[in-house]
Amino acid sequence: MTQLPLRAQLASALGRSAATLSRMTGRGDGSVIGGRVGLLLEPDLLRQLARDRKLALVSATNGKTTTTRLITSALLELGEVATNAFGANMPAGHVSALSQHKRAPYGVLEVDEKYLPEVLATTGAGVVCLMNLSRDQMDRAAEIWLLAQKWRKALSGKPTHVIANCDDPLVTWGASTAAKVTWVSGGQRWKEDSWCCPECGGPLDRKDADWACRECTFHRPEPQWVVDGDAAIDPRGQRWLLDIQLPGQANRSNAVMALAVAETFGVPVDRALPRLREVTSVAGRYTTVERDGRHARLLLAKNPAGWLEAFDVADPQLPIILSVNAQGPDGRDTSWLWDVDYRILRGRPVFVTGERRLDLALRLDVADVPFTLCGTFMEALAMQPPGRVDVIANYTAFQQIRSEFGRAV
Ligand SMILES: [Zn+2]
Repeated sequence: MTQLPLRAQLASALGRSAATLSRMTGRGDGSVIGGRVGLLLEPDLLRQLARDRKLALVSATNGKTTTTRLITSALLELGEVATNAFGANMPAGHVSALSQHKRAPYGVLEVDEKYLPEVLATTGAGVVCLMNLSRDQMDRAAEIWLLAQKWRKALSGKPTHVIANCDDPLVTWGASTAAKVTWVSGGQRWKEDSWCCPECGGPLDRKDADWACRECTFHRPEPQWVVDGDAAIDPRGQRWLLDIQLPGQANRSNAVMALAVAETFGVPVDRALPRLREVTSVAGRYTTVERDGRHARLLLAKNPAGWLEAFDVADPQLPIILSVNAQGPDGRDTSWLWDVDYRILRGRPVFVTGERRLDLALRLDVADVPFTLCGTFMEALAMQPPGRVDVIANYTAFQQIRSEFGRAV
């Protein structure tokens, strides 16, 4: 690997010091502040840090942190991998990730959907993995369509190899200007944002996973990789049991995306799959915390599509605690609660907490789901009989619960 120019070396080193100081003074993990300091001193730092590395960028509305982690795990087969493991998914976080692993020949970066064009242009990443696009809290359908259009422009005319979920029409449209695409049938649980053809606005006809526009030629491409229940089918038609530790269908889909990305880096399935099995939790998601004999499994749901994924993972035999906040990262408006169908929770003991518990309580009441209102998460946990309980929380509610247990990982 060639040496960084002196200015970039200095910016990178000062950024790392700022990150260490931030950590020591208890202001989070420091990955964002460190990157900001570095970029302030050398605006071209991300491009310089990315040069000479083999990079994969991972973007989606849901599952990007988990998929980034799975791909990173698979690429460890090849050597050191730089990654933004704490979900700091904008350029400052990318600078920080690459500065912390200066000699890593590989990098896997989670990228905020809106920043993908900029980060792709800056880093010249060779591989981009795109999974799904749906409303995030208050985004509107028109906004995510504009986002997909920006992806198309960003990918057009570049040599980037895209791995994309062809079950999501908007992702397919966003990816289809790329020079090379590997299509993965990864499933689509949330269809509410894709009833219209992104190309012409006509109606999309759907049959099982397949879809096609009734009015133009836009249709689902033939996938090379397929998620089939608990198995992955590779481009040679071979079936692989996805016996991973992370629960639920959404994670099996994330795992197949990771296998497809790993293969483009030269890691075959038989070597990648054991690496995926090593991942048991991702920044606190899916981890189990314990207090006084109550074992609570933590599930994160940031938007309507995320709630459906969490319902798929939650055990219908267990009580469930729901916690909703409406701070900055959650979106301050909770009207998205009305997009989620909570009736699936009927019949199990439901406990409601979080700063916006009354909004959620009203929503459950209208859906005829009986619940118990609790002042705090710890109060809700203490009301459980000893044993297992599932927890679904949105972003800041999730982080608050994690910090009660010492930043559970
Ligand atoms: Zn059409």
